[in-house]
Amino acid sequence: MVINIMGEYILKCSHPECNASYDDTDFRLICDNEVKGKHGPSLLKAEYTSDRLTVRENLPGIFQYNDWLPTGDYFISKFKFDLGRPFCYKSSGLAKWLGLNKLYIAFSGFWPQFGPNLITRSFKEFEAQCTYARYLNIYQNEEPKPFIISSAGNTANGFNLISSLLNIPIYLVVPEAGLENLVLPFHTNPHVLVVKGDYTDAINVADSIAKQTGLMREGGARNVARRSGMGTAMLNAVAHPAQGSGFIFDHYFQAIGSGTGAIAAWEAVQLLIKDGRYGKVPTRIHIAQNSPFTPVVDSWENKRNKIADMDEASAKRDIEAVTAHVLTNRKPPYEITCGLYDVLKESNGTAYRVNNGQVFESARKFREKEGIDIGPASAVAVHSLAQAVKNGTVVRDSSVLLHITGGGRECQSFMGETYGVDPMLTIYPDEIDKAVSAIGEIKSISNINDSLSKVTHR
Ligand SMILES: [Zn+2]
Repeated sequence: MVINIMGEYILKCSHPECNASYDDTDFRLICDNEVKGKHGPSLLKAEYTSDRLTVRENLPGIFQYNDWLPTGDYFISKFKFDLGRPFCYKSSGLAKWLGLNKLYIAFSGFWPQFGPNLITRSFKEFEAQCTYARYLNIYQNEEPKPFIISSAGNTANGFNLISSLLNIPIYLVVPEAGLENLVLPFHTNPHVLVVKGDYTDAINVADSIAKQTGLMREGGARNVARRSGMGTAMLNAVAHPAQGSGFIFDHYFQAIGSGTGAIAAWEAVQLLIKDGRYGKVPTRIHIAQNSPFTPVVDSWENKRNKIADMDEASAKRDIEAVTAHVLTNRKPPYEITCGLYDVLKESNGTAYRVNNGQVFESARKFREKEGIDIGPASAVAVHSLAQAVKNGTVVRDSSVLLHITGGGRECQSFMGETYGVDPMLTIYPDEIDKAVSAIGEIKSISNINDSLSKVTHR
């Protein structure tokens, strides 16, 4: 007999001609019909039993939004300190400068004097919390393999933080430029491979190592837990009893690399509309990239539903020229059903380019107006909003959510020592065998029951 341990949600294929739905019993990332070639790439979506959100403020981290997370009744906890939570506030300084009456800022970073408590200083921490809760819940009675994470830096830092708290081994593959993002306020021991290449090279290396070693890939945008985890920033900004606006926003602005965060924000808006208490008009999702590397903006402006093939050499040259390295993914989930193209189209969204000069100028302006340092990716988002105000897309009384997806690095460094990581190996993208032999024997995860807690008050 199959026991459905995940009674709170099912996974549904988003392809318009496919009705497949699945219990989440095997960390499913893909529809069987897609595997069989019956339809093209399509995201799976989590469909929750509860249409109505109850914010459970007593639960740690993102798990206060447990009703709409693919983690069943479970959450991770038992740490010495609070897990990172989404944080939102109504802006006055930046709002006044931009001439906006209803500007809210989702601050996903480290600013503990004010509230935001993300030790990794990035919203990628949310996806790590949610992915671990989903994974450990599904394999509660087994000993699954650890994850191998490819990342431009912040996702790796998020997974490193959570795995370290859970005392679970983790394998991280990052490009050289991403290594500097792996900084935490305490010492950790991840297995780190550095790739002489870009983010996309790191993705390919991690895929190859996973195939040879059995290490687990968490699925990127295809992982419903990643999207749901990041979507809590939107849920919080609308529905949190103290911080939320209480209404669905007219506009949402975020800088993107893969764009998974923007897809997540859109999915969260759909849930909030279904809830019914926050309004019915969907949020327009606006995205921005750091020029000269702007493949999503280019494709969107050319009305293409596919990312144009990139000449690798020129793509790499452009990637090296940007300030916000975390925004450089050569293969974003753009054309996949319910991916970025669909989100921009359905939400009537737009896309912006922000150059390096504008990045520096916007980071400085944000610090001056809001009193906190932000990372270059966040500065890209700030400038895209300024452009939208200038071109009339956003007007004085528009309600706007600006997502600052990373910030507070300086703030954190003033508060005490921070620690980087020691890579085990640096390789070229084709040196997979060298990496596999350095990894050696892999220990499975055997302490799941120490890491999971169950919601008891449903
Ligand atoms: Zn399907």
